[in-house]
Amino acid sequence: KKNTFYKVDIVVIGAGQAGLSAAYYLQKFGIEAGKGFVVLDDENGAGGAWQHRWDSLTLENVNGINDLPGLSFEEAMKENPEAIRANQAVPAYYSKYEKTFHLPIIRTVKVLNIKEQKDRFLIETNGVQFSARGIVNATGTWKTPNIPHLPGSESFKGLQLHTKTYKKAEDFRGKHVIVVGAGISAVQLLGELSKVTTTTWVTRRPPDFRPYEFNPEHGREAVAMVDERVRLGLPPKSVVSVTGLPITPAIEEMLNNGIMDRLPMFTEITANGVRWEDGQEMKADVIFWNTGFKQNIDHLKELNLVSEKGGVVMAGKAATQVQKDPRIHLTGYGPSASTIGANRAGRAVAREIIATLELKKV
Ligand code: FAD
Repeated sequence: KKNTFYKVDIVVIGAGQAGLSAAYYLQKFGIEAGKGFVVLDDENGAGGAWQHRWDSLTLENVNGINDLPGLSFEEAMKENPEAIRANQAVPAYYSKYEKTFHLPIIRTVKVLNIKEQKDRFLIETNGVQFSARGIVNATGTWKTPNIPHLPGSESFKGLQLHTKTYKKAEDFRGKHVIVVGAGISAVQLLGELSKVTTTTWVTRRPPDFRPYEFNPEHGREAVAMVDERVRLGLPPKSVVSVTGLPITPAIEEMLNNGIMDRLPMFTEITANGVRWEDGQEMKADVIFWNTGFKQNIDHLKELNLVSEKGGVVMAGKAATQVQKDPRIHLTGYGPSASTIGANRAGRAVAREIIATLELKKV
């Protein structure tokens, strides 16, 4: 029925690494699974966005999967040591994690809208409605790809796709592919495609190459920079935009083979390809947008959290607490959008929301 709802203290939205980590700490700090908090997720199975990554993304070429709190990846994978594809291994790990800690995950529930109702929130979903005193939003970015709109886009007769829907290079054999974007996905997939077909690499700005040797200091600086941005209410930037691209041996080979001879961004899309500002044209069968993702927070629109600077002003130890309304946390947003960050943020989220709602002493 329309006006029946399930009442809890805290609703966590999303069961990816950010939501799982927050759920783990809520439980650890004594919030009761079910009555005290629930996790709503709109997927059929465990793994968050990891279950949708392309097949060639393996444990060997991902940046690194850090442990969620309480159960290491290695420990969880003892039963399944063969899994090497990230889209199998990480979902298997998260599934084991959910079961080990009996986390109260409710699937398949999509949160459509959240409204304030007296001193609580009404969480409208495609199923049962929920009422909660606090919200932990951990909906990631995978469902909101960023595709720039260019004049002529509708007239293109070829295929346009985004990282999100990429499956395998073989699908593009014999087709000329324009790969757009300067992030890790763009470079990795450019490398993959160039082995089976002709490619052209296009980026808005010249890529910012850095030495291969990863310096943890550098990683910390990058996170600090994103942290600072979100505390000012600026939209979070992708990590690559602050860390640059490491010149790995694979990238070095691509540089030597001319695959990374990059062109600037075109300004128009034509029926058969693209056109640059100076009138030059190129034919293409495929325009492949590796242009990143946006924050998936549209369901929070009625709460008016976004500042005039385009982002939500964040506060709290891990920059997950919404300054305007501390009963709301956004985790996996900005500095916590990595497996390392999500783990650290989970503890801060749980501590701070429990304190704000005065649920317990922690
Ligand atoms: P997700 O994994 O996206 O989880 C969010 C969950 O919420 C999903 O299950 C989703 O279906 C659900 N959801 C969304 N909207 C709703 C709604 N309205 N109602 C209910 N449920 C909803 N980071 C690393 O540390 N190491 C890496 O190697 C790495 N590789 C990456 C590779 C790629 C291609 C990308 C895009 C990112 C990578 N990242 C990596 C960054 C980051 O760790 C991942 O994006 C990670 O999946 C983010 O986790 P999350 O929990 O924030 O979101």
